[in-house]
Amino acid sequence: MNTRETLKQRLGLTDADFIKPVPQPMPWSQAFWDGAREGRLLLKTCADCGHVDHPPYLFCTECGSERSDWRQAQGIATLAAFAVNTYGVPAAFVEDLPFVLAMVDLPEGPRMISNIVDSEPNELRNGMALEVVFHTRDDGIVLPKWRPSKQRGSHG
Ligand SMILES: [Zn+2]
Repeated sequence: MNTRETLKQRLGLTDADFIKPVPQPMPWSQAFWDGAREGRLLLKTCADCGHVDHPPYLFCTECGSERSDWRQAQGIATLAAFAVNTYGVPAAFVEDLPFVLAMVDLPEGPRMISNIVDSEPNELRNGMALEVVFHTRDDGIVLPKWRPSKQRGSHG
C-alpha cells in the first residue's frame, strides 16, 4: 500500500487532504508565472529606481513607483539557508518527504523561498552555487526550484 493510502486509512484522510496549495497569479504577478511556464525566471524591476521586488508586488517597495519592467534573471543563486523536512508536514506534502525548503539569494537582489531538488540533502551547504529548474505541476502551474550548479563552487 502506498503512502497516501496508508495515511488515508490510518488518519481518516481523503484525497482532498492531499491537494497542495497552489500559487494564485495576481495581475501584478501574472508575468512571473507566464515566464516560468516558458522556462524563464522573470523579476519585477522598478523602472524608476531599479529595485527588484520578489515576490512581485503592486508597486516598488523601495520607492513606491508603479512603473516596472520584467527582466529575465540569470537563473543562478546562492544557498542562504535551508531546512530538510523529514516529518511533521501537512498531509499534502507527506508524499514529497524528505524535501528541502530553502532561502536562496539571487545576484539580482531578491532572496527567494523555494525548494532544492535533484540533490542529496547531506551534500547541501550554505553558500553553494545553485541553478534554477522549472517543475511543471499537473495543473499547468510551473514552479521555479533550485538545484546545485553543475559548475559547482560558489558564485562568489
Ligand atoms: Zn523603485
